[in-house]
Amino acid sequence: MKPLIVANWKCNPVTLKRAEQVFVLVKKNIKNIKNIEIVVCPPFVYLPKFKAQSLKFKLGAQDVFWQGRGAFTGEISPKMLKDLGVEYIILGHSERRQILKETDEMINNKLKAVLGAGLKPILCIGETQEEKKEGITKRVIRRQLEKDLKEIQNSKFKIQNLIIAYEPIWAIGTGKSCLPQEALKAKVFISNVLKVLFGKKIAEKIRILYGGNVSSKNGLFYIKEAKMDGLLVGGISLKPKEFIKLLQTCKLF
Ligand code: PEP
Repeated sequence: MKPLIVANWKCNPVTLKRAEQVFVLVKKNIKNIKNIEIVVCPPFVYLPKFKAQSLKFKLGAQDVFWQGRGAFTGEISPKMLKDLGVEYIILGHSERRQILKETDEMINNKLKAVLGAGLKPILCIGETQEEKKEGITKRVIRRQLEKDLKEIQNSKFKIQNLIIAYEPIWAIGTGKSCLPQEALKAKVFISNVLKVLFGKKIAEKIRILYGGNVSSKNGLFYIKEAKMDGLLVGGISLKPKEFIKLLQTCKLF
């Protein structure tokens, strides 16, 4: 399977002009990259602009609401995003869980809506620094998976569309790196929980990504040594030179 590299732009950049510059710069420099699936997740407002240009990239969003339409001021539905050419949706990012107080129940509702619309959710899970210190990483990961994936049965949804991103919160935007061996342990554990939830055959089709302080220097280690199916990239996805370098190294894998 091709590595999947997802760029999470978060609430950046602040102008459409700059967003287009980053997009065009990366697009120009990845013409020879064939064996990687690249997804760019810009803020909602830039999505329509990128729809027409996104042959080399797939489009992703950073969140969604669980209802299809109606009186939900400020919200955006899966169908609206699908109409804009969006294929992937990041859900349960730690910044939404911590800053916006998103609960596992809300994430579970969003997951069902995204899978129901035929889109691909990228579910972010991972432990805090305190939880790591306490030695309860596995317990946290299992709890998140069980709650966020509650009532998602094979018969109702195409579960293969689900993607999990293991993102140790203590590594996100901090400059601290998770060792590939630690990431590998988490991957094996996640994979085992998915087997219990969905059965071996389906679980093996669910891609597991790594995210947290990924750079052009360490990205390949997570794919090669931690056997991750790809990467979720924050900070450097807005630095075209560094992001292109990362893509080039992963292409060689
Ligand atoms: C993220 O926010 O999902 C992330 C991985 O950020 P960074 O790469 O900046 O650590």
